Amino acid sequence: MGVGMKNRIYIVGIGPGREEMMTGEALHALEEADMIVGYTTYLRLLGERFRAKEQISTPMRREEERCRICFEEAEKGKTVALVCSGDAGIYGMASLMFEIGRAYPQTELFVVAGVTAASSGAAVLGAPLGHDFCAVSLSDLLTPWETIERRLLAAVEGDFVIVLYNPSSHKRKDYLKKACGILLRGMEESRACGYVENIGREGTRAEVCTLGELQDREVNMFTTVFIGNAASEIIDGRLVTKRGYRHGGETVI
Ligand code: SAH
Repeated sequence: MGVGMKNRIYIVGIGPGREEMMTGEALHALEEADMIVGYTTYLRLLGERFRAKEQISTPMRREEERCRICFEEAEKGKTVALVCSGDAGIYGMASLMFEIGRAYPQTELFVVAGVTAASSGAAVLGAPLGHDFCAVSLSDLLTPWETIERRLLAAVEGDFVIVLYNPSSHKRKDYLKKACGILLRGMEESRACGYVENIGREGTRAEVCTLGELQDREVNMFTTVFIGNAASEIIDGRLVTKRGYRHGGETVI
């Protein structure tokens, strides 16, 4: 490596699953990398194309270890790509990499944007994000439940469309029900909602329903949930948030 040249790590969002849903920039970064690091499932999603590259897979929950491996490999002079699903900066590893990166000033980080589940799931459902929206993760592994509850109530107050990430896990089977209970304090039961399981992967399944119905639906950890705002509607089976355009002589809002 030349004098003053820094080691490089790409933090790459690979989108929800299939290669067509990855950006050209992400593919390019993976092509350029000497080594690809990631959670086993994501490496599997990359398929045959990058098999020839050196790969290190790490189990879930060992995020810090995964980050340190990247820096240690980069210090050997390798260009490393750390892969995350969706966008690496959205409930992904990018922020932790910057925190840990303070100890590795010789390494420069490049974040490569990916298609996040809010965006890919919205496309499957129709157009639920046509107006102001927010994302809330229901995982209380790193965030106290009181904070999650406060954010949900603030989103109701602001009439945001809400995208729920991490709506369920083995240990948190009833979290979606709990969240719906909180939302129902300020929203009507007939509020239009939807959810998508396995976006961009085998077994994609989308459903639209009301908030009242959503309360009793079982979803898994590969599901993203959408709660409409006051202007959301189900049109021909698709979840749509109207923007307020006037058409046909009437005000649609
Ligand atoms: N960085 C990811 C989010 C990771 S948090 C992104 O930007 O999309 C994990 C949560 O993301 C899951 O619990 C689920 O709510 C959502 N998610 C990620 N990939 C998904 C997929 N293929 N299908 C449905 N939901 C997905």
